[in-house]
Amino acid sequence: MPLKTVGFIGTGIMGLPMARHLAEAGYPLTVYNRTKAKAAPAKAFGANIVDSPCEAATDVSVIVTMLTDPEAIERVMQGRDGFLSSPTPGVTWIQMSTLDIDSVLTFSKKASAKGWKFVDCPVTGSKKQVEAAELILLAGAEDKDLQKMRPLLSRLGKTIVHAGPVGAGTALKLCMNLIVAQMTTGLAEAVALGETTGVRPKDIFEVLRNSPALDCGYYRIKEQAILKQDFSPAFSLTNMLKDVRFMMKEASKHGEKLPVTEAVQRLLELAAKEGYADKDLMAVCQILSRKASSR
Ligand code: NAP
Repeated sequence: MPLKTVGFIGTGIMGLPMARHLAEAGYPLTVYNRTKAKAAPAKAFGANIVDSPCEAATDVSVIVTMLTDPEAIERVMQGRDGFLSSPTPGVTWIQMSTLDIDSVLTFSKKASAKGWKFVDCPVTGSKKQVEAAELILLAGAEDKDLQKMRPLLSRLGKTIVHAGPVGAGTALKLCMNLIVAQMTTGLAEAVALGETTGVRPKDIFEVLRNSPALDCGYYRIKEQAILKQDFSPAFSLTNMLKDVRFMMKEASKHGEKLPVTEAVQRLLELAAKEGYADKDLMAVCQILSRKASSR
């Protein structure tokens, strides 16, 4: 059976390598990105680059969205050129951006109203994992809808966790990013404290690497960023701030407080205001270090 034709919308840090994996697996691919120049590399792996989201969702079986936030999805979804104007019936929309749960449910309803299927499928893993097709996919979908998409999704990651119905994948993703946000700021504060007390960052990492309890992939990934002060984005600080706001919103909807995440939000807001929004999330250590050295 020929592979499904896929419309891929959003060729940012995550989207471009994901599109490449699908093309390399043999899926015929139509690609749209708001900034066309950033979709151009997809030509090299045989994708058909189109001028509108509607074209990307025409004559396809599946569309994948990998965009920043709900506003970006709205932007490519609505209007005459939006992908919901596609005349193609029976499409499955796999939504892989990190959004808030309410937006995911709204988008799912819009897909259903059109007779399309919807798979909520954000991901964990960053630049390195997406390039190696080693993401973990956090799915929220009806069993049968997910089942049909498994062959395609398995090209993007090594594990698919089926968390429950639509919305459950996003709920799980926000829990996972809460951990990442706190690990990042925890590491940043440890480095800042070390700076004030004469501890070298490299010694912190040597202890982490040799500790059976504390050695972990995330600290290893961020070690070079801190030691070389290289904060080119793998996951931008502004995208984590977006996710932290979603976590706070979900908690407050249920009358819950997340006091540590609230403090993390304030720290990220300060870092964004001070010019680190488009840097890697780990750049949050810069504002702490500066504070430490000005004391
Ligand atoms: P990115 O590199 O900034 O890419 C964002 C994409 O969204 C680009 O294609 C961008 O188009 C598009 N976009 C943004 N605003 C738009 C708008 N108003 N209208 C149309 N298109 C718009 O971000 P990313 O790192 O790939 O992240 C994408 C999603 O995955 C986010 O939800 C993020 O939270 C999530 N995520 C990221 C990571 C990571 O480590 N990077 C890991 C897991 C999940 P342009 O090229 O025109 O700007």
